[in-house]
Amino acid sequence: MVRIQGLRKSFGQAEILKGIDLSVNTGEVLVMIGGSGSGKSTCLRCINRLETPTSGTIMVAGNEVTCPRTDLNQVRQNIGMVFQGIHLYPHMTALGNVMLALRKVKKVPKPQAEELARHHLEQVGLAQRMEHYPSQLSGGQQQRVGIARALALEPKVMLFDEPTSGLDPELVGEVLNVMKRTRDAGMTMVIVTHEMQFAREVGDRIVFMDQGVILDQGSPEDILGQPRHKRIQDFLSRMH
Ligand code: ATP
Ligand code: MG
Repeated sequence: MVRIQGLRKSFGQAEILKGIDLSVNTGEVLVMIGGSGSGKSTCLRCINRLETPTSGTIMVAGNEVTCPRTDLNQVRQNIGMVFQGIHLYPHMTALGNVMLALRKVKKVPKPQAEELARHHLEQVGLAQRMEHYPSQLSGGQQQRVGIARALALEPKVMLFDEPTSGLDPELVGEVLNVMKRTRDAGMTMVIVTHEMQFAREVGDRIVFMDQGVILDQGSPEDILGQPRHKRIQDFLSRMH
């Protein structure tokens, strides 16, 4: 579903990604971990071309994201993204936010957009909150609206960049549960997270990023249970 080959990215003199090769299979959940500044967000942002790679190729669902002739709007329809923090329109209800995405991005007619939006908000447990404005929702509820909005567009792959950081601890679980259900529904996912227990539970594969390269990758048991690298052992011991 996603194939990254020889991905490099520099900002000025600083090379942040130093040759990433990574494939994500259809239905696979790949969890990316690593220290602050190791390049996780930059890598995710290259996948939907929020950043332009310095070199390398990225294919998503058969389209070459990195090709200058590729229609980015079309490619991005295949890619749902949920970031840290919340990005809803404050003057629109939960329902309005999801409907707007459907109408703008997919040109879905209003009645159908409403039906789809309601369905996806129900799926993330917000049946009772559709008419609420973002300011009337908890951080976890807002983040779930963001997930519903992304899923409503029926992407082929979902990218999550620390969707629970900044949330009160008691709200983290409800967002992670929605992500687990998304996985169970068969979605291909790339998740950057600091939630190691969650990584272990949902990850088919863990990738450890270190200073712009993939230091190691493997099953959750291999990488988190019995890490070979001292760098990873140190990282994990700091997480506890
Ligand atoms: P964190 O866990 O803190 O989110 P990360 O692994 O996601 O870290 P990135 O956000 O990818 O790290 O950043 C990697 C490096 O690239 C950092 O040193 C950062 O300062 C630098 N960087 C990221 N975006 C830019 C930019 N637009 N301009 C210049 N430098 C940048
Ligand atoms: Mg980051």
